[in-house]
Amino acid sequence: MDYTGLNYAGRKVLVTAGAAGIGLTIATRFQDLGAKVFVTDINPAAVDSARASGFSAAVSDVSNEDQVRSLMDTVATDLGGLDILVNNAGIAGPTGSIETLEAADWKATFDVNVHGQFYCIKYALPFLRLSTDAAIVNLSSAAGRLGMAGRSPYSASKWAVVGLTKTLAIELGGDGIRVNAICPGAVDGPRIDAVIEAKAKMLKRPLAEVTDLYLGQSSLNRLVEATDIANMAVFLGSDLARSVNGQAMAVDGNTEKLY
Ligand code: NAD
Repeated sequence: MDYTGLNYAGRKVLVTAGAAGIGLTIATRFQDLGAKVFVTDINPAAVDSARASGFSAAVSDVSNEDQVRSLMDTVATDLGGLDILVNNAGIAGPTGSIETLEAADWKATFDVNVHGQFYCIKYALPFLRLSTDAAIVNLSSAAGRLGMAGRSPYSASKWAVVGLTKTLAIELGGDGIRVNAICPGAVDGPRIDAVIEAKAKMLKRPLAEVTDLYLGQSSLNRLVEATDIANMAVFLGSDLARSVNGQAMAVDGNTEKLY
């Protein structure tokens, strides 16, 4: 066993939506630890910028099955295989009470957050099975452990991610492929700013008040950093986590209620 633990030299990692946001922080952390990292994103400008930072990268929409199928061939050819899949792509979905939501927005949330993970796992598996040390890390959310008023499609989709994770941990564990999820609390960054703004609008309450509610969700009374999520991802992908399987790891400062 490698007790230094986090030596990723020679290991091959794919991070979906890895060209921006939390995904880019995760991808960078794996790269800093010596991994060969491929990132994919739906946004061509973000992909160009990731390429400029030394990542292998391609534009791909995780909710498009055909694109994901051909993406996995590209990734395995480029990296020379695949050891770790980080299913990071996920959208916030609409904010509103259930009767105000449009079916198209509900479906779009599941298309990315749930079906996207299904496609990526399905088409990555032939390559992961060739690895001697494979792991899958799925991004869920604190909203995948708790209810979240006004965000029903998001919360339901992130609970689905935990169900997928726990089921595949059983299905694939015997083949030596570990499957775990990360459940971040509110992470500092542009996305949470937009989420808080939408919630303030829905509740018709001042932005500063709703921002305080969000900070107070965590017992640490602050937001989580993207690096906190990246640290959990590199732990779950590593030999240090060799007996961790089927878990939904909360990285949320202890969050017991979501607003
Ligand atoms: P983000 O909204 O900042 O998006 C990051 C990237 O995802 C963007 O570059 C975007 O182009 C890409 N993307 C969007 N749709 C895509 C698609 N269909 N295919 C490929 N790429 C796509 O997200 P984030 O805040 O970095 O969140 C990353 C993950 O963490 C998500 O699964 C999210 O649900 C989860 N999460 C985030 C928070 C938070 O507070 N930000 C909290 C809990 C969980």
